[in-house]
Amino acid sequence: MPPETRALVERQFGCRVFDKYGAREFSGIAHECEAHGGYHVNAESYIVEVVRDGRPAADGEIGEVVVTDLNNRCVPLIRYHLGDLAVATSRRCPCGRGLPLIERVIGRVQGVILGTNGRYVPATYFAHFFKEYEYAVLRYQVVQEASDRIDLRIVKKSRFTQATEAEIRRALAEVLGADMTIRFDFVETLPLGRTGKAQTCISKIPLPLFSAAAAEVWEEEERRALAR
Ligand SMILES: [Zn+2]
Repeated sequence: MPPETRALVERQFGCRVFDKYGAREFSGIAHECEAHGGYHVNAESYIVEVVRDGRPAADGEIGEVVVTDLNNRCVPLIRYHLGDLAVATSRRCPCGRGLPLIERVIGRVQGVILGTNGRYVPATYFAHFFKEYEYAVLRYQVVQEASDRIDLRIVKKSRFTQATEAEIRRALAEVLGADMTIRFDFVETLPLGRTGKAQTCISKIPLPLFSAAAAEVWEEEERRALAR
């Protein structure tokens, strides 16, 4: 949760807010404590690993979250890839609880767009990118239909012109590779995802296993996001 959102909720409701990390398949995987310094893994119920290139991620590194459920005897989920990325840490929390920590939960690996140049471009990149076009773009959705084709769904504002389109096309070609086909699709509304969430990036192609090269891109984006 962004700090400003947390502050707003705390102010309006007059209470403290703690973040919980969970999923459909697993309920509370990890929670914040009063120190708000990462997420304590619910280690009595889950074995949580942060994996990168097939090995445990080191402190401060980003990896994919892999969960083993110790309670579900009906549908055993063993080293289940949730498709989430997180930052690993081995440090202890100042609160004194002995439960292992996850430094930070980043988000879905499915939301990543893969350029024809091999570059992994996360949803946060597009959020930043489209901030520049707030005057012309109301909402957007980037859909990777094929390894060399992106559909850009856009709800435009009145100031969106052909020049805007050309500029976006040029800028995205630099990031995603010159031979990426970018198709503009102007729509009235954008559908919400299956779980009712707005999705800005959708990938319909299988991504290669999460690698160190991919992680570097995420780490760079993280640093940028933290610097903002
Ligand atoms: Zn703690």
